[in-house]
Amino acid sequence: MYDLVIVGGGPAGLTAGIYAQRARLKTVLLERQYIGGQIALSDVIENYPGFPSISGSELMERFEKHARGLGLEIRFAEVVNIEIDGTEKVVKTTEGEFRTKAVIVATGARPRKLGVPGEDEFLGKGVSYCATCDGPFFRGQRVMVVGGGDTAVKEAFYLSKLASKVYLVHRRDRLRAEKILQEKVISASNIEILWSHILKEIKGDKTGVKKVVVQDLKSSESKEMEVEGVFIFVGINPSTDFVDVDKDERGFIKTDQNMETSEKGIFAAGDCRTTPLLQVATAVGDGAIAAFRAEAYIESL
Ligand code: NAP
Repeated sequence: MYDLVIVGGGPAGLTAGIYAQRARLKTVLLERQYIGGQIALSDVIENYPGFPSISGSELMERFEKHARGLGLEIRFAEVVNIEIDGTEKVVKTTEGEFRTKAVIVATGARPRKLGVPGEDEFLGKGVSYCATCDGPFFRGQRVMVVGGGDTAVKEAFYLSKLASKVYLVHRRDRLRAEKILQEKVISASNIEILWSHILKEIKGDKTGVKKVVVQDLKSSESKEMEVEGVFIFVGINPSTDFVDVDKDERGFIKTDQNMETSEKGIFAAGDCRTTPLLQVATAVGDGAIAAFRAEAYIESL
């Protein structure tokens, strides 16, 4: 029997773990894949206070070391369901079940698919959702990046240091990304922005991607372009299917300012909840509040 089960080992979950250990709660953190979450795949982070420039993996290694140093138990298991049994919660996972008084869901989000022909067919053969993971395969080649948010713009800049040419395809004529990131891509000599364009199709053969079809939304004209890689960054979907609490229409968990969900004793923190800003800095704040409120909830039982 645990006091607290934390689901997810990204910035929010690890922060909650640190606070829970300091509150002497009997806690286990469950992680499906790898510790660090999405940000561990980010090449460089330049907006986490105190670290003007640090790689995502190094920052997350520090979080993990800090949490483990306080004795946090971390287990690798995928949560499939959370059942309510009186005041207890039963967290059902691929590695068995965990009974607990409180749960913090900090499962983050996964990249959204574009849904164009060729996207699934060439996944891993030119189509990617992670520049840090796959960028080095495209050294000296031509790649296309789709999206105009922080991720697309940041990753386009990272790819411009490896690829010979980066085409950034954005459906509007203004980027959504932070201004400081926009300045970087606009000044990179080998990044060409295709404003008001959409990617319609990815084509290739058994060796991988060869061409894409893009459409100019202003003239409605389509054209083929030769590229070897396609990186898609068109937003994220939350990983929240396993938990039955109130969510918005896209699946992000609704919480109040205390990170409390519609179910007493279940809290949510980080990118998986409805929040105006998805950053390491905000996930850390969420994780701290969730653990603090979980402690108060456990004491109230
Ligand atoms: P995002 O901010 O939601 O941006 C998604 C981009 O994809 C938008 O430019 C959007 O176009 C475009 N898009 C969406 N659906 C599309 C479609 N069907 N076809 C073509 N384009 C489409 O997603 P994100 O960049 O993955 O970022 C997710 C969150 O993480 C954001 O809150 C972001 O601030 C945060 N983040 C922060 C950093 C950082 O370093 N500060 C880095 C990465 C992520 P429109 O602009 O026209 O809607």
